[in-house]
Amino acid sequence: MYKDVLLFIDGEWRPSVSGRTLPVFDPATDAEIGRIPHANQADLDAALAAAQRGFEIWRNTSAFERSKIMRKAAELLRQRAPEIAELMTREQGKPLAEAKAETLASADIIDWFAEESKRAYGRIIPARSAGVQQMVIKEPVGPVAAFTPWNFPINQVVRKLSAALAAGCSIIVKAPEETPASPAELIRAYADAGVPAGVINLVYGVPAEISEYLIPHPVIQKISFTGSTPVGKHLAALAGQHMKRATMELGGHGPALIFNDADIDTAVKILVAAKFRNAGQVCVSPTRFIVQKDVFERFVDKFVTAASALKVGNGLEAGTTMGPLANDRRLAAMEILTADAVKLGAQLRIGGKRIGNQGNFFEPTVLTNVPLQARAMTEEPFGPLALINAYDTVDEMIAEANRLPYGLAAYAYTSSQKTALAVSSRVASGMVSINHHGLGLPEVPFGGIKDSGYGSEGGSEAIEAYLNTKFVSQLAI
Ligand code: NAD
Repeated sequence: MYKDVLLFIDGEWRPSVSGRTLPVFDPATDAEIGRIPHANQADLDAALAAAQRGFEIWRNTSAFERSKIMRKAAELLRQRAPEIAELMTREQGKPLAEAKAETLASADIIDWFAEESKRAYGRIIPARSAGVQQMVIKEPVGPVAAFTPWNFPINQVVRKLSAALAAGCSIIVKAPEETPASPAELIRAYADAGVPAGVINLVYGVPAEISEYLIPHPVIQKISFTGSTPVGKHLAALAGQHMKRATMELGGHGPALIFNDADIDTAVKILVAAKFRNAGQVCVSPTRFIVQKDVFERFVDKFVTAASALKVGNGLEAGTTMGPLANDRRLAAMEILTADAVKLGAQLRIGGKRIGNQGNFFEPTVLTNVPLQARAMTEEPFGPLALINAYDTVDEMIAEANRLPYGLAAYAYTSSQKTALAVSSRVASGMVSINHHGLGLPEVPFGGIKDSGYGSEGGSEAIEAYLNTKFVSQLAI
């Protein structure tokens, strides 16, 4: 069922000009399952020329018509979700149910942006003189270059792509080389829905080669990147040198604060699901569990019990609740971070080891009393690693939440309104969810601060990122 993936340029699926290809592997079996074209400069030039032409067509397509086409794409994605989910599980590893949920949630994101495209309103500002009309007009920024990672192969693309299309922009998507087939199916749904040739272009290759060429290119007016903080800083600097607008959705090290007055059963149920979803390879994953002393042992016991009940296996197999890591870099990182923490005195409650010697399987791992000097306490684990420490006071807990330069997602469990307010107002984070897991819906802002990046990939802020504001002042004569 898995097949080779092609580039999509100017409305056509095609191999690269050079004919060179790169392999794709199944993270559950290590088997090569397909190949993708390696785009070089000739392919990128074709994509840039197509995006320029596509922009002229799409910006002149009415918002109403754009919206209709987008909603059709959402419908196709929903219809094709079972097959697309299988492709995603094979290339990324996540359990089939998670892959299907991601695909269906992506259709909802398209629908939301389709509606929003009809509401990219400008405004009229009352003038100081008679006969003057002061208009604020929203215009699409132009062709976009989007770079997306392998952890949510469709979701990471659909947020950028749909916001860009809703605004009237064309786009070149550099989708993840390691998980290429499922995002290609998203592009196919859009193409089949009637998006004109050139409006959406899809390339794969060597990420640095592509970004170094596209970002400075005069056709490209806006960059959107999701990935690690070091790469994000590099690309943001490049965008800055060329005065290109940029959205950066980078790493995090999510604090989860569990206070003495929390409902522990609810906290454990939600946080274990959030921690081990997608094997922890989630930018908003809770990673540092900051637990108040009185409930520490109870929280840890229940957390360990729930984490032990996870069934790790091939995502295609029924009953699997956690798949393999998406690539062997994550496997190596989990081994290094765990060994380092244990060497420095952390207690390993469960897990800590690779499972078998085929595929990138790693045990759900819980470490407690982890010294702050341990690498895992500062580096984003991006894997199935839960780090649980005990603290005395609310102030100490908030200080620990704010210790790192990251600021993406934070979580808290408390039955006190006062503590909830202290968390929401004092924790430096782009998103805070209290007593439930409520992030990532299409209609709410999604993004970080500090080293976690800037800009938003949800809510009306997301479409704003693809619009220029033009001011027109006109005197009637
Ligand atoms: P990495 O830093 O090499 O790459 C991260 C992403 O950036 C990948 O999608 C990669 O293709 C892309 N990339 C790398 N160099 C690039 C360049 N010069 N130009 C354009 N794109 C480039 O690391 P990795 O091993 O793939 O992932 C590990 C780390 O990345 C994780 O620890 C995590 O911090 C981060 N990450 C974050 C997210 C997220 O959702 N924010 C997703 C995936 C990975």
